[in-house]
Amino acid sequence: MDCARSIELLSEYSAGSLGEDESIFIRTHLSACLDCHSVFQDLKLIVETAAALRSENGIAYPDEEVLWQRVSVRRIVH
Ligand SMILES: [Zn+2]
Repeated sequence: MDCARSIELLSEYSAGSLGEDESIFIRTHLSACLDCHSVFQDLKLIVETAAALRSENGIAYPDEEVLWQRVSVRRIVH
């Protein structure tokens, strides 16, 4: 298990900006690790919600990257 590395890469993975090796690592890890899988689901929801709200009402919500990092850090520390 390499959860710290997985969490680090999740935001890039969701943005589709990872290389092939890293994408494979993430996919393999997510399928084997329930914790990271649920973190990924949570983060995806937050990012999608923030993006939707921002485009709907023009309010400046925190950048997605910042959100990801905050949530990741909280989950790792806990
Ligand atoms: Zn993990």
